[in-house]
Amino acid sequence: MSVLRYAKYPFLRGAAAFVSEQVDLQLKELGKEEFKPVVRRAKQRVMQALKQRRVVTESRELVDYVSEVLSFPTAVAMVSAINDDRLRSVYSLSEAKAAYESLKDEDPKTLLAISRELGIRAKPSAGPARDFDLDFEDYLLHAARFHQPRWKLVNRKLDRGMVQVTQRELARILQEAIQRRVYEKTTVPLSVEDLPESVSLEVGELRENWEKIKRSFGAREAVKDDETNRPPCVKRMLERLSKGEHLSHPERFALTTYLSNSGHAVEEILGLYSSSPDFNAARTEYQVRHLAGEMGSRTRYKPPKCSTMKTQGICPGGDDVCQRIRHPLQYPAAKLGGKGG
Ligand code: SF4
Repeated sequence: MSVLRYAKYPFLRGAAAFVSEQVDLQLKELGKEEFKPVVRRAKQRVMQALKQRRVVTESRELVDYVSEVLSFPTAVAMVSAINDDRLRSVYSLSEAKAAYESLKDEDPKTLLAISRELGIRAKPSAGPARDFDLDFEDYLLHAARFHQPRWKLVNRKLDRGMVQVTQRELARILQEAIQRRVYEKTTVPLSVEDLPESVSLEVGELRENWEKIKRSFGAREAVKDDETNRPPCVKRMLERLSKGEHLSHPERFALTTYLSNSGHAVEEILGLYSSSPDFNAARTEYQVRHLAGEMGSRTRYKPPKCSTMKTQGICPGGDDVCQRIRHPLQYPAAKLGGKGG
């Protein structure tokens, strides 16, 4: 593979071999002047993971491919030194999401080469172009976490131990495998003392940022919802979505804002809409990110009050808990605590 591909997929074993051919990089040497762009980009990778939940790799704008490739193991070392499981998850998912963005449009030969490297057995399908046959066991192993109906085996075409998937679906499965690989890399024990002083200062700054972000997660998780404490309006919209029914614009607004204010990641919300009959991935992602405050004005929108939901015909009538609240976001606390929040 070319250096450009390694810059896009730096978690591949070939990328590590490429790096060692180019430079004899030891951790202590990262403090040298010549590695400053590498450290800067590595820190940026982690910051992008913290703030945007996705590492941004703009390969068209890249000029220094070697630094881009080197910045990945350096970022992994920084995350290892911070030694926090939750950060490992956030960072590995962000790297995997960046890879997904490239893989979904990747040339099929490269996609299959990367699948092989990740231990996923796939081959071009005899069916539609850009469809693939994926080994049944690999499908089960990686798609088990996906809850949308389209991933259920009963809804898939299965032939002689192979499951047919689209390129986008194969890329999504690879995203899972990549996240696991990156996560494992960040578990290699590393102490800040192993790093040169200039790099450990950057790690200290990242750690501070992470602690601040974690505190805001904590506040959000206090209202994290689950199936047992959802208001009737939200339950009904989710049921209709799972049956593949169309939701009106006000319903989508209410559902998306309810979920994003209840601790759900944008990707989870997107997954719910993917079975919608008029699903358009790019448009839905734009709308959901916008409402979740990840784009545009950076304001996270709130769902409408119950009175507005009633006027819009979204409220199915409510239950006894609803009698004590005026806003759907008050429902989980009212249900758990017995009184309106
Ligand atoms: S009263 Fe409010 S929370 Fe309850 S179902 Fe209606 S809109 Fe939802």
